Amino acid sequence: MLSFDPEKVILPAGHYIDGQHCDTQGEQLSVNRPSDGKPYATLSEAQAGDVDRAVTLAHQAVKASGWASASPRERGKVLRRWADLIEQDATLPQLEALGSTRPISDVVNHEIPFTAEAIRFYAECADKYSGDLFPTRDSSLGMLVPEPYGVIAAITPWNFPLSMASWKCGPALAAGNAVVLKPSELTPFSTARMAELAVQAGLPSGVLNIVQGSGAVTGSALVAHPLVRKVSFTGSTLTGARIMSDAAYHGMKPVTLELGGKSPQLVFDDAGDIDTVAQRILRGFTANGGQACVAGTRLIVQRAIAEPLIARLVALCQTFRPGVTWDETSRYAPLIDARQGNKVASVIAAAKAQGAQVLVGGERFADTADGWFWQPTLLSAPGADNPAVEQEIFGPVLTVQIFDEEEEGLQLAAHAIYGLCAGVHTLSLPRALRAMRAIEAGTVWINRYGRSGDFIIPTGGFLGSGIGKDLGRQAFQACQRQKSVLIDF
Ligand code: NAD
Repeated sequence: MLSFDPEKVILPAGHYIDGQHCDTQGEQLSVNRPSDGKPYATLSEAQAGDVDRAVTLAHQAVKASGWASASPRERGKVLRRWADLIEQDATLPQLEALGSTRPISDVVNHEIPFTAEAIRFYAECADKYSGDLFPTRDSSLGMLVPEPYGVIAAITPWNFPLSMASWKCGPALAAGNAVVLKPSELTPFSTARMAELAVQAGLPSGVLNIVQGSGAVTGSALVAHPLVRKVSFTGSTLTGARIMSDAAYHGMKPVTLELGGKSPQLVFDDAGDIDTVAQRILRGFTANGGQACVAGTRLIVQRAIAEPLIARLVALCQTFRPGVTWDETSRYAPLIDARQGNKVASVIAAAKAQGAQVLVGGERFADTADGWFWQPTLLSAPGADNPAVEQEIFGPVLTVQIFDEEEEGLQLAAHAIYGLCAGVHTLSLPRALRAMRAIEAGTVWINRYGRSGDFIIPTGGFLGSGIGKDLGRQAFQACQRQKSVLIDF
């Protein structure tokens, strides 16, 4: 029985610093449930002084506790215990489902195992990557020695609170750093509980601290803090640009930036079974109510199969039903809040004003109290300059464009700002490989859409979709800096 009573979930105090949940004196931010819009908690926003305390303690703890200098295998053991506790914890799924857009069954069956496995992957990385030896004169020795940065600031969005935290904390902690993490102010509590479990697993107190608050106050103080040596961020492209500039200004700190997307789904007339392709496209733009950076939101389909594919998609979209995230039968996610709902509505209105036609959906589901559940929406929007084609909407909205020749399809797949992911659907291997080469995106999925559970495959965007990679050994190595050493003997 996974369903639960949202009024009975016990919330931790927002911040988690030096092994303690704690409150601060900052401004009180209201936190609302996405499923019905109801306020369920207030959060005291961490001010610059609170951030200073969290970062300074992390800086001291990572050295004093021996975490940075511990044998990598010891760090791996702690991370593996942490992953076990995350999987076994009874309160974590409810905290995640209550405050985020993820239905409880999805949290239990996907988000929690995926979070735990990401941490296990980095536990395995801890002792797998070494430095280098260089050919030098006989009487000298040249080496490249990897070392942790010290304190890494992590800043995460609201769409996948737990797994985003694991992608940041797993590699950083495995490499011997301390982390101060600021989750989204819209989804604060599950991450605070996750940090408490890390300390229960044996992570020294203070090595992972959570500070809560808005980006403008808490986030910017964290990026600017002089003891923060690196910033790892996931969120929108606009915020990423701001963080990159702040990180440069306050100490030329390296950044990993996982940003927005507007990913194409390029379907050729030899893509195979229409129903299978339709199911793939559908999942690609409706998962988490379309609130996924990797959402495949631009269908670009070859004319010969456009009509049957669109007809199948329209029929599938009509089967969706809203349901609160604490009900185990719910499958479809609400939008995070009214602000996001109004954004989806306004882009659709602007798209229609510029000639887009609604093929299905286009409206909020009625009778869902103050929850914002948006009907899966297909928009026929031929112009590449249509707002629905240009902008990341972050809702379940798929634009449809039709092409005749391969070259035309590839041109439509390109985007002026984003280059996060792309789906290519064709049974012709040469065509798939030509498209893979031509498309400017950090990830190309061929005859699938979405990640596998293979954490070894990194993820990250080109162009305005980001810099650097999360996941894979690349994310672990990005949490180490490389020291060049030359010894004469
Ligand atoms: P957002 O950029 O508004 O906020 C992300 C985080 O940054 C939040 O914690 C926020 O408080 C913080 N923040 C905001 N301003 C800041 C500042 N000036 N300094 C420091 N921190 C600041 O994004 P969001 O609305 O929470 O999430 C949705 C966005 O995230 C979408 O654009 C989505 O594509 C992107 N995203 C990308 C990936 C990826 O892997 N590429 C994954 C998930 C989400």
